[in-house]
Amino acid sequence: MSLKIHQFPYLSDNYGVLLHDPSSNTTACVDAGDAEAAIKALEQQNWTLDLLLITHHHADHTAGLEQIKQKTGARVIGPKAGASAAIAGIDQEVQDGDSFQLGKSEVQVIHTPGHTLDMMNYYLPQDGVLFSGDTLFTMGCGRLFEGTAANMLDSLNRLKQLPQQTTIYCSHEYTLHNGGFALSVDPDNIELQVRVAAAEELRANNLPTVPSTMAEELATNPFLRADDEAIRKTLGMEGADDLAVFTELRERRNNA
Ligand code: ZN
Ligand code: FE
Repeated sequence: MSLKIHQFPYLSDNYGVLLHDPSSNTTACVDAGDAEAAIKALEQQNWTLDLLLITHHHADHTAGLEQIKQKTGARVIGPKAGASAAIAGIDQEVQDGDSFQLGKSEVQVIHTPGHTLDMMNYYLPQDGVLFSGDTLFTMGCGRLFEGTAANMLDSLNRLKQLPQQTTIYCSHEYTLHNGGFALSVDPDNIELQVRVAAAEELRANNLPTVPSTMAEELATNPFLRADDEAIRKTLGMEGADDLAVFTELRERRNNA
């Protein structure tokens, strides 16, 4: 657990993350929407970038890729081409089940289609850290731009298998909006109420609500709780299957 992690904001609500293994002096950056923000964060930490990990093709995750690569010489690891719009500049394509080293830490690739078809999440089992991109958000999940509700539910069900103590870094600060929606479908959930109050206080002080833990998400994130009796009751879907409940939740969130 020697990995150092530095999260930095960019654009209006994105987060990038630097990972640094001091023992091997290896540094990675997750996502590349804003080259200036990433390079400034590297300079602040006095770290030299070796690896750039891309989660998916959307511009807020890739627009700075070429510039960061040019400036740092980092090797770019990202989704295997073909599923979604191509990402220029990837040096090493990865797909589900692949793994690679970040210094002493193993990074496992988990394909989580739904928001996009190319979405890759990066999981570091020794460090207990997941980079969930725009798949699993704090108290929410990504919009379905390319995949189906079934894709996203499958993806989230895979992430749910990770250890409860896993630290989850998602790519956006959407927590307050997500929390408000979560309360609308799960109003009596006390852990959710407490969590939303804590998030409101963090944001009032301009502090990030990311990362979270899988235990927190399992207890409060409605998109991981399609099987929850109370949520089903609120939706009037007691007898429905998980996919129908999940689909309804996702549609309601689109309009929330
Ligand atoms: Zn996206
Ligand atoms: Fe995004």
